[in-house]
Amino acid sequence: MSEQEQTLSLVDVLQEDQELQEEASAVLAGSDAEHCSYPQGYVKRQALYACNTCTPKGGQAAGVCLACSYKCHEGHDLFELYTKRNFRCDCGNGKFADTRCQLFRDKDEVNQLNKYSHNFFGEYCTCRRPYPDPEDQVEDQMIQCVLCEDWLHGRHLGCALPDGAELHEMICQSCMEANDVLWAYVAPPARSAGASPDRAGRKRSHGDEGAPPPPCRLKGLGAGGRPPGAVFWPPGWRSRLCRCRPCQGRLSEAGLSFLPDESDTVLAYERKGEREEAATPARDPLMSALSNLDRVRQLEIIHGYNDMKSELKDFLQTFAAEGKVVTSEDIRDFFERQQSRKRRRADNSFHCA
Ligand SMILES: [Zn+2]
Ligand SMILES: [Zn+2]
Ligand SMILES: [Zn+2]
Ligand SMILES: [Zn+2]
Ligand SMILES: [Zn+2]
Ligand SMILES: [Zn+2]
Repeated sequence: MSEQEQTLSLVDVLQEDQELQEEASAVLAGSDAEHCSYPQGYVKRQALYACNTCTPKGGQAAGVCLACSYKCHEGHDLFELYTKRNFRCDCGNGKFADTRCQLFRDKDEVNQLNKYSHNFFGEYCTCRRPYPDPEDQVEDQMIQCVLCEDWLHGRHLGCALPDGAELHEMICQSCMEANDVLWAYVAPPARSAGASPDRAGRKRSHGDEGAPPPPCRLKGLGAGGRPPGAVFWPPGWRSRLCRCRPCQGRLSEAGLSFLPDESDTVLAYERKGEREEAATPARDPLMSALSNLDRVRQLEIIHGYNDMKSELKDFLQTFAAEGKVVTSEDIRDFFERQQSRKRRRADNSFHCA
């Protein structure tokens, strides 16, 4: 039996349990765990991975879909890219020297429209550190820029985080600097504060305070200063962007046509997963517990699950047998115990004669 046959994928295990499979598809929100997404072309939003084994730093960046991460790169050193927009699976294409895609072979050499970043080599933020970062002891959160889709440390955004930052969308400083058109929306007329992002202490003066807001926000462009730092945008801001023809034109020139589309947001993507999840009758305790963890942590655990599924099943069965509810702490503890066991195993090998 080859190693590949012995190693069941998460998908195989989940197939044993239809219910669990449906729940997992909600966690990975609509990304197909079985079929390579390549035939769908540039997918609006999908879970994405980069393979440090197949396409390491120093070479060309490449990204693979969820199904390929399981089937074609099992046991490889994968970077979680969370979700990215408008990406076509690269698995096995011209960027891969040895690996052939086992799910979909007939691929172009390159996907010209894919966008890549240092994330594809396991580096995040302007400080270009790995995540998780073994050398970083500072408690901080990673926030994804909705334009470049890089993940940035909260402390490296160059601005204070607004209350309820997790409900906002963030555009990083370099994206704000690169996209003039966005500044039209930063300090809208006082009468329509709805789309105003949180930018403490920043108010643009308007000559005509009593008049109704102008129909087009671009008329205010360039009227104020532009303090450095990221900008946080409140829930629903995209649907309130000006839709007049010149504005649409400027957004599309800047490659930002996706911005007024609420269904482009990560939130919409997650809700889609939740709707699919709600269609299933009973919630699995594992997935309920997972849903209380943040997304990056969830994805780490889903991948961890792949390696330790039998231990995890035993663990969950003890809860089921005792009729207890599994909490996210229980799940976290389980994975942390597994991790430290792994580390100890690695440490011990140094002392083996
Ligand atoms: Zn694929
Ligand atoms: Zn690989
Ligand atoms: Zn593949
Ligand atoms: Zn950083
Ligand atoms: Zn950015
Ligand atoms: Zn307009």
